[in-house]
Amino acid sequence: MPVRRHTANIVLALTKKFAVWCLFTLGTGLGCGIVVDGRLIEGSHSHGAMSGHITIDVRDDARICPCGQPGHLEAYVSGVAPGEAAVEFMEDGRKTSLNSRIESGAMLTPLVIAEEAAAGDALSLELVLDTARYLAVGNCEHDAHDRPGCRAVGGGINFGGPDSPLGRRYLDAIREEVSRRHSPFRRSRQQLIMLRSAAMPAT
Ligand SMILES: [Zn+2]
Repeated sequence: MPVRRHTANIVLALTKKFAVWCLFTLGTGLGCGIVVDGRLIEGSHSHGAMSGHITIDVRDDARICPCGQPGHLEAYVSGVAPGEAAVEFMEDGRKTSLNSRIESGAMLTPLVIAEEAAAGDALSLELVLDTARYLAVGNCEHDAHDRPGCRAVGGGINFGGPDSPLGRRYLDAIREEVSRRHSPFRRSRQQLIMLRSAAMPAT
């Protein structure tokens, strides 16, 4: 089944099944949609679910979001975030097979990092799992006010998606972190699913 039809079918099914559910999409940025009673929350200026700009890091040296503010979720999970984190680790002397990829002319894209993680590079796997944990922290911000019955994760950056061992490990890491941060306001079980993407982008 084509990916767009697959995604559309899932969106319809989730809207029928859950009074409140959220969709997060990771690409060059972080997109989010919140559906309540079948309607997408628009808010002022169509910014109803600007979850990429939730603050998750209040340290003085927090990463700077593309919007210019420090510590926003998007700065930790967007397409460039794993590569930027990799550079920081390598500058601190971490050994990684990413060095040889750089020497051969590759950019530190999520695809390259996923390939090295799947091949057994510890730092690359750490970067994938860090992305999962940061996304989970941002996800949990919705618990207190929206109480979604389901969270769906989509977009081009999914580290192989639900059909790959690394993609499933990434999804499990999100689940584990969400579970660890269980909100006292959440009274029912939540589902977390990953949508298939057409392809992992090169950026
Ligand atoms: Zn921001």
